[in-house]
Amino acid sequence: MRLSKLAGGIVESPTLALNEEARLLRERGEAVINLGIGEPRNKTPLAAILASSAKLTSGEVKYTTPDGLPSLKKAVIHYTEENYNRLVSPENVIITNGAKQSLFNIMYSILNPQDEVIVIAPYWVSYREIIKMCMGKPVVVSPEDGTFIPRFEEIKKAVTPSTRAIIVNSPNNPSGVIYPPELIEKLVALCENKSIYMVCDDIYHKLTFDNHRAVPAFHFTKNDIENSHIIVVNGVAKLYGMTGFRVGWVIASRQLVRVMANVTAQTTSGVSPVGQAAAEGALNGLQSVVDALRLQIQNNRDILLQELKSFSGVRLIEPQGTFYALPDMRAFNQNSVEVSRFLLEKARVVTVPGKEFGMEGHIRISYSGSVKDVTEGLERIKWALDPNSPNEIYIGDKRMIRDWS
Ligand code: PLP
Repeated sequence: MRLSKLAGGIVESPTLALNEEARLLRERGEAVINLGIGEPRNKTPLAAILASSAKLTSGEVKYTTPDGLPSLKKAVIHYTEENYNRLVSPENVIITNGAKQSLFNIMYSILNPQDEVIVIAPYWVSYREIIKMCMGKPVVVSPEDGTFIPRFEEIKKAVTPSTRAIIVNSPNNPSGVIYPPELIEKLVALCENKSIYMVCDDIYHKLTFDNHRAVPAFHFTKNDIENSHIIVVNGVAKLYGMTGFRVGWVIASRQLVRVMANVTAQTTSGVSPVGQAAAEGALNGLQSVVDALRLQIQNNRDILLQELKSFSGVRLIEPQGTFYALPDMRAFNQNSVEVSRFLLEKARVVTVPGKEFGMEGHIRISYSGSVKDVTEGLERIKWALDPNSPNEIYIGDKRMIRDWS
């Protein structure tokens, strides 16, 4: 079969593939624990359920304008003013099918073939593929070994006349680190000086622990949205654990939003009004649900830290946000794909190889699930890898003995 070179070059989403593998194993009766996917287990907030049910029962489920329902835009504007201290007009907002489509539409709208986009490692798996789909070139900047925050000078060095954007994701998937405000400030200045877009993927910006906070890029510019090079991406998936509703949004200049609206109009025609109503309900509803989710995830993070403390050989940079940790497993094996495969085979635990995020030797562990999954999953990982841990364990109702070293 003849396929396009462009589409043929796009790799499968490793997290979704692993998720499917875990599902198939579970179907066969295996006691699989999925620490691969980043998806909170909370129920949809009531305000979102009520708003989307009302939309459904109205029977008025029709096309919306491609850039989104005005009432949802209003809620997004309010959210942006409250959280970013920025005045935004409806023409600066576009609603998308999740933050993933936000990123795709941005790249499609700003890149010419071979334009470069700087991606900071460790990075979310989809950035590189999205850039490639839009015929751009991802340019990866990696931090020094043992750190997850690249030096500003390294990023600056990667800028060329072909650079169109830098993607900044803080709190970061997969490491959970928050970039220091000084780095954000310098990046804002760099982007403004060089007329480069700074694409801030803020999807985890409310999921921060202890007293850590991700300072928004807008904080460091006096320019208004029309004149700034900052583009903000956000959505309801991680904020409210509403992954399946597929609602995200972009805050950008009017000109860029107009172009993205045309792209949307010719591709998806916009987001389902049922999903949009749910997002509106969540944004206008009680925000204590966000805090409750954050505290539950922070508790999971603390359990993970506790479990990893007694794990000889594992090195971890403490996550300050998101629901991921990216421990360094090189003491066991340099090859993260082999580590993840081994853990699935022996311990029936799904993790994601760090190689996928540009951080070989590490694995990503998601602690977005239940306390039981996090505790038991880490016990199993320790059992499989750490010769100092007890060599017997129950996986489901099977008693397992570690007979390898
Ligand atoms: N950006 C990052 C960093 C993510 O981790 C994810 C999802 O895992 C997304 C964007 C996509 O979010 P959505 O589900 O809204 O498309």
